[in-house]
Amino acid sequence: MTVVTSPVRATFLPFAKPDVDHREIKAVSDVIASGWLTTGPQVKQFEAEFAAFVGAKHAIAVNSATAAMHLALEASGLQAGDEVITTTMTFAATAEVVRYFNAKPVLVDIDPITLNIAPDQIEAAVTPRTKAIIPVHVAGQAADLDAIHQIAQRHGLIVIEDAAHALPTYYKNRLIGSISDFTTYSFYATKTLATGEGGMITTHDDAWADRCRVMSLHGISKDAWKRYTSEGSWYYEIVAPGYKYNMTDVAAAMGLVQLSKLDEMNRRRQQIAAQYDQAFGVHPALEIPRTHPDSTHPYHLYILRLNLAALSIDRNAFIQHLREANIGVSVHWIPLHMHPYYRETYGYTPEDFPVAYREYQRMISLPIYSAMSDQDVTDVITAVTQIANHFRV
Ligand SMILES: *Cc1c(COP(=O)(O)O)cnc(C)c1O
Repeated sequence: MTVVTSPVRATFLPFAKPDVDHREIKAVSDVIASGWLTTGPQVKQFEAEFAAFVGAKHAIAVNSATAAMHLALEASGLQAGDEVITTTMTFAATAEVVRYFNAKPVLVDIDPITLNIAPDQIEAAVTPRTKAIIPVHVAGQAADLDAIHQIAQRHGLIVIEDAAHALPTYYKNRLIGSISDFTTYSFYATKTLATGEGGMITTHDDAWADRCRVMSLHGISKDAWKRYTSEGSWYYEIVAPGYKYNMTDVAAAMGLVQLSKLDEMNRRRQQIAAQYDQAFGVHPALEIPRTHPDSTHPYHLYILRLNLAALSIDRNAFIQHLREANIGVSVHWIPLHMHPYYRETYGYTPEDFPVAYREYQRMISLPIYSAMSDQDVTDVITAVTQIANHFRV
């Protein structure tokens, strides 16, 4: 491949990198020195501060968003043969958790502007077996929750928001986390709050919160960490065959520091997004993300779309040229219905969801994280602009 950019940078710019400084390192090393490594006081404090932050009645810390969604579906009473409607434009986790129950993930198409699940497609997919809807806030921008809740109310469905990208996101001036039956978060290494691995469930319902907590730790009927403290007792009861999804105090200590930095990290991503918007918004071959007036955009991802009619190369070649320029990028996502498992199990073809299929072919996620330097941002802008100019038709 011929190099079309002037040498942009000497070292590779990773697509994502956590924003970690001495504060996280101190918090984690204090926990290690304390001798208490697993679920304990740090987790309890993280849950309390997280619930207060998003305005939720309950927050249950777990070891991934996948676990969080699994527990939310379990607490909802999902059964084999039930159906759960979700978007094809999401990560593996959102639909696989439905399969854990031998239930059916019913995929639907997206809104072409926000890339979020299209409410009219949800309505068309509801059947007597539908039990829940899992909207995903793609890149962090809120899905059309009012329309989704209207459908849910009409048909008696549970709404579980996959908010892995949506921390913090305001939908109609309300912070995501207190709006639906359940909201689930990811603290995976690349997310806007990173603990390495981790997740959170928020809910307003006492019984659901209790069920999630019990099932997150072997189906044991009380806070197991109390068992090991001096106030605790040796007695416990197993009330269901639960899972092993608890968060460690090491992760929670990091989460507490990250939570205190959330606004600061968000501000930096807003700055970067504004620079990208300004640089790419005027280019005829590039389409910048558009923010819906109902939602803020925390820019967990900055999904640039190519105007393929204005370029002589496709998206894959564009990415290849960015790699040559030492810029790490990604694609969010290859729609679920295009993957072998979903194709073979449910007989999907790419054209079944034409909007997702079309947008997939022209999307590139650019690096956007608070640990990026001004030079990093300039380098991304330079490389993207040079490639777009070179292949413009
Ligand atoms: C990252 C992600 C998940 C999975 O999160 P884990 O914490 O890794 O389980 C689920 N849904 C979406 C939309 C994600 O981006």
